[in-house]
Amino acid sequence: MNCTCSKNNIEFYHNFQLKNFNTLKMSSCADLVYFPKDEREFCSIFDLHDNVCVLGWGSNTLLSSLGIKTPLIITKKMSDISFRCNTVEVEAGASVQKLSQEACNNGLSGFEFLIGIPASLGGAVAMNAGAHQQCISDYIVCARVFDVEKKQIIVLNKDELEFSYRNSLIKKNDGRFIVLSAKFLLNKSDKANIKAKMDENTEFRKRVQPSLILPNLGSVFKNPILPNGEKLSAGMLVDKCGLKGFHINNAGVWEKHGNFVINYDNCTSVDYTNVLFKMYDSVKEKFNIELECEIVRLGQFSESEDKIWKILKKD
Ligand SMILES: Cc1cc2nc3c(=O)[nH]c(=O)nc-3n(C[C@H](O)[C@H](O)[C@H](O)COP(=O)(O)OP(=O)(O)OC[C@H]3O[C@@H](n4cnc5c(N)ncnc54)[C@H](O)[C@@H]3O)c2cc1C
Repeated sequence: MNCTCSKNNIEFYHNFQLKNFNTLKMSSCADLVYFPKDEREFCSIFDLHDNVCVLGWGSNTLLSSLGIKTPLIITKKMSDISFRCNTVEVEAGASVQKLSQEACNNGLSGFEFLIGIPASLGGAVAMNAGAHQQCISDYIVCARVFDVEKKQIIVLNKDELEFSYRNSLIKKNDGRFIVLSAKFLLNKSDKANIKAKMDENTEFRKRVQPSLILPNLGSVFKNPILPNGEKLSAGMLVDKCGLKGFHINNAGVWEKHGNFVINYDNCTSVDYTNVLFKMYDSVKEKFNIELECEIVRLGQFSESEDKIWKILKKD
């Protein structure tokens, strides 16, 4: 149902199907979803509700088949990107792929690694998204953030955002801080060189990752680091357990790479979670290494899913 919020004219929907709002194409119904189009609308939602959760492009989030009871904000309509000399300010819901293209059009280098990541800027900052030995924190200057507890907008600089491998202050304090926009400093460079690097990155992705025709959430496990500092490939460990192509109902490990789990046809979050557990358990048994999930979850899950998730998620 399409309606408009009586307060502040914010677009919102009841009983909203999220299947087309996550890259796993998981069927999940949200009781109440808001689509704010600017910072003012965004902040005013917190005058209406105490506990609100946020979704960007849903490319790293396992949604519950049982649905989402807490009010949800989807940031997609806050998507301005504005360039000024070597800096760019980007709103939370902007596509990082569009950002990468526009940086190239402006002759600015740095964001070539973002091409092929189906993410929002806010999600990419929260997860410190990265690829090809680069990550979002390499170029960030500061972020405008809504502090949910204090109900105020603050500006956090790069150091205050506490970035590390696929982690940040935003992620560590789940739900406390929400990115509204961020500012980045890029390097002037030759457009043809930037474009060539982006094409190279796209070609690489085509070889090692499933396209979104096979709905997925990207790499599901972090690459483990051994006590001696050696970094292993989670996908390689899963492959060595013979799990490529392993299925539970309609969720299964991709045939070509062991760190991707595909929704082959309307799988449930229970199927998906059980596949993750099989991967974790097999690697633990064979190599005595405990994999840790890179993806996050949203919604109300069953007891059995919660029990498995506690094992898969250390932070
Ligand atoms: C095909 C494919 C390829 C991928 N490749 C890569 C890759 O190369 N490198 C990589 O790092 N990741 C990759 N990913 C994973 C994913 O794209 C990233 O983790 C991305 O940062 C998630 O962004 P999102 O907007 O989709 O976040 P969502 O899944 O919508 O949200 C992820 C988390 O961030 C929070 N969040 C979202 N928006 C905000 C906000 N504005 N403020 C605060 N918190 C927020 C959510 O609440 C949630 O906890 C890939 C995924 C897919 C499907």
